[in-house]
Amino acid sequence: MEHPPLPLPDELKRVASTFAKANRQCWLVGGAVRDGILGRGSEDFDLATDAPPEEVVRLFRRTIPTGIKHGTITILKGKHQFETTTFRKDGDYSNGRHPDAVSYASHIDEDLARRDFTINAIAWDLINHRLFDPHDGQGDIQRGIIRAIGEASQRFEEDGLRSIRACRFASQLNFKVEDKTLVAITGALHRIPGLSAERIWEELKKILKSEKPSTALMLFLQTGLLKEIIPELAQCDGIEQKGTHDKDVLGHIIAVCDAASSTNLPLRCAALLHDVGKPQTHSISPEGLPTFEHHDVVGAKIAEKILRRLKTPNALRERVVRLIELHMLHYNPNWTDVQIRRFMALTGRDYVDDVIALHRADLLAIGAKVASQEAQLTELEERVEMTLKAQVPLTIRDLAIDGRTLMKELKKTGGPWLGDLLDDLLNHVLEDPTMNQEEPLLAYAKKWLSLQL
Ligand code: ATP
Ligand code: MG
Repeated sequence: MEHPPLPLPDELKRVASTFAKANRQCWLVGGAVRDGILGRGSEDFDLATDAPPEEVVRLFRRTIPTGIKHGTITILKGKHQFETTTFRKDGDYSNGRHPDAVSYASHIDEDLARRDFTINAIAWDLINHRLFDPHDGQGDIQRGIIRAIGEASQRFEEDGLRSIRACRFASQLNFKVEDKTLVAITGALHRIPGLSAERIWEELKKILKSEKPSTALMLFLQTGLLKEIIPELAQCDGIEQKGTHDKDVLGHIIAVCDAASSTNLPLRCAALLHDVGKPQTHSISPEGLPTFEHHDVVGAKIAEKILRRLKTPNALRERVVRLIELHMLHYNPNWTDVQIRRFMALTGRDYVDDVIALHRADLLAIGAKVASQEAQLTELEERVEMTLKAQVPLTIRDLAIDGRTLMKELKKTGGPWLGDLLDDLLNHVLEDPTMNQEEPLLAYAKKWLSLQL
């Protein structure tokens, strides 16, 4: 190949020329080369060089010692950050996490040999403009195959995260995992419990942001990884649900994941965990049908536990748990405007779109029989939109009177009564938004107080 695999930023060319002047090598490696060959752009440029980290720091004005112990320095140039690693050959792996010792190599081929998959071990020489592909990564890209470099079982034994990464790349690229590599995943399951939650979550996040998470999730199930990573989901496998459903609980969950938008991580996460309460709430009705009473509440609790274990950011966890609590939506076109407002007050303005989106994904996953319900959901969306536009009060903060005014006017000090009154006032205003003015609300409050014992 005579040309670089993708248009490269000028800053990258300047970095390469600095290395060249110092008589050092500079290779583009990893995802950028792989994605470039696939015709996809990349924002993330990883470099490899024979210059030791201290020299990299000396050669460039702005650097960050990102992982100096492992030979990684980030070079800052314009708006770009280039993660630059000195050629490495890894020492023995004993804990399945990180190599015990890092020693530097002088040739790029040694550095490529310690990488995970053939498609990730192609290097582009930024100085001499040539591609170096000793493991036929290009062939595997063409065939759409994820193949471990060298002996797959040994590579997964060295670092258990590679098993999860294999499934992640299969989802992101819509590739197949080569047979031996696939078998080796199951053989190295004992390496999963030792992995840090942060590393696992980084991979899960990428799976959930890919077009079809189902590819990775099916591989998780097939290889046994699911039981190691999220055993609560593995328990959903084989639980039948009949009725409108044609899949078991896990099959349904996976389909909902695909149907939810790939650009909305909390929604994708909620889709993944929305029915995780079903195994625990499973029972059979007198008519002989499976039921899952309160699986939303139970599921939200289990999801909370899972997300804490995975050490996901707090804001994401809280949002996902709330979406799961709210996922049982029973809209029908007979809902009055008051019911719409009550629904919106319950979910909250920030959640209402995602509650509907999750329900839509849920319906899409069930299939064709629910087309009429989907039309109803569109109607609900329109009604919610209109209500939002009308800027009607939906929370206590939207009320035309606040706690302080109420205490002053009613000549009472604060206490639990105030919360009860504000709740009641909101209820009143949800029924009739025209009541949201100070005077009628105060009159209502006085009457409310006189009725309290
Ligand atoms: P992405 O597009 O997600 O950034 P990537 O291939 O660049 O994909 P990174 O996690 O950024 O993935 O890693 C960069 C490169 O480092 C990989 O392409 C691979 O060559 C190597 N690599 C990363 N993690 C491992 C690992 N656990 N074992 C071996 N090599 C790895
Ligand atoms: Mg990368």
